[in-house]
Amino acid sequence: MRLLIANGYVIDPSQGVNTGKSVFIEDGRVVGLLSYSDSVPEGCEVIDATGLIVAPGFIDMHAHLREPGHEYKETIASGAAAAVAGGFATVCAMPNTDPINDNAAVTRFIIEQAERARLANVFPVGAITKTSAGVELAEMGEMKDAGIVAVSDDGCSVPSPGMMRRAMEYARGFDLPVIDHCEDRSLARGGVMHEGHWSLVLGLRGMPAAAEEVDALRDCALAELTGARLHLAHVSTRGAIEAVRRAKEKGLAVTCEVAPHHWTLTDEAVADYDTNTKMSPPLRSPDHIEAILEGLRDGTIDAIATDHAPHHADEKALEYDQAPFGITGLETAVGLAFDLVNQGVIDIERMVEALATNPVRILSLENRGSLRADAYADVTILDPSFQWTFDVSLSKSKSRNTPFVGRTMTGAAVATIVGGRVVFLHPGFERLSSLEPKAFAKGGSR
Ligand SMILES: [Zn+2]
Repeated sequence: MRLLIANGYVIDPSQGVNTGKSVFIEDGRVVGLLSYSDSVPEGCEVIDATGLIVAPGFIDMHAHLREPGHEYKETIASGAAAAVAGGFATVCAMPNTDPINDNAAVTRFIIEQAERARLANVFPVGAITKTSAGVELAEMGEMKDAGIVAVSDDGCSVPSPGMMRRAMEYARGFDLPVIDHCEDRSLARGGVMHEGHWSLVLGLRGMPAAAEEVDALRDCALAELTGARLHLAHVSTRGAIEAVRRAKEKGLAVTCEVAPHHWTLTDEAVADYDTNTKMSPPLRSPDHIEAILEGLRDGTIDAIATDHAPHHADEKALEYDQAPFGITGLETAVGLAFDLVNQGVIDIERMVEALATNPVRILSLENRGSLRADAYADVTILDPSFQWTFDVSLSKSKSRNTPFVGRTMTGAAVATIVGGRVVFLHPGFERLSSLEPKAFAKGGSR
């Protein structure tokens, strides 16, 4: 089982490669990078990647796949299909399912469902505390043995600093990063959008930026105290990014991610009361977005993650203050990341770093996020000049809650390869789709 991704432009920050090469894959692993002039190895299926960028398979560190318990919003199979359609070879499943992933049985169930779907790699994230209630630590060791790659009570913060300290010490013992949803409940409670000009104008209860910043500062201090690996999820405020910048200057093991909606939209988007602009943390004001762009530019922000949070249309059809938080994001993230490149905020190498190299480093995933010899053959093929319009009716997700319906973007993932199997080809990309039947036949049934 051999595959050659021929004549593309390889960008792999893990080994400082940024040059024209072909990628040779055999039995699900990368064999190596070949020169264009090398002869095609015998018995190879060939994908013609002329004019395209070939990158290590993208990894979304932060998605809600809703199974078990909320299969009407998303299943692991539908979420994995949306992931590969968006260019993600790997996705991390947040634990706020029903039941919550706070024990090894749920962890194993998620992994089994992902194996059944045979699309994206799915790595579960376990809860920090039992039922994410913030009271008693979850069995991190057993969950790690079962396959979790991090712990998080995402959806809420760990309310008491004492509990967070114990959680960090415990997680450190298992060498697990703690993914932190920063939202001080006593400050944010009842808020449905960013507190500022627009919350006043619209008459909606606001969540101050300080609600995120108080927890970010607290937990950076606790990372210093405990030596734990701390990763701030979906940073959205100037103060939180500044906290991470200071922590990095001190040499602490603190990292962070940003979600595409947080640099793409401001809180002004809430003005038409579209509940697809409601998420937590909320869309912020322009000064915070400026800080996000700075953080992306200077590397304070390590990763881009979707915070894909599917909800049923009936739930999002409620009044603004009643509707649940969250939007889908797996199929728009790469297009919105290309906006950053097209606007000159970051270059494409930095984009690949934020979507592949750094998530792998933060999560210590072995042999991934790289096109080095012997790495798992997860590959994302990008067309930086591909113009497309997001048609939500074609989404692979079970849910449709996105503010990006009909948005036109330049740059897309046109193919996703997982373990050497082509699991997604962009429907508008005919040059590759002619190869589809053969590529699928080699990888077995979908
Ligand atoms: Zn969160």
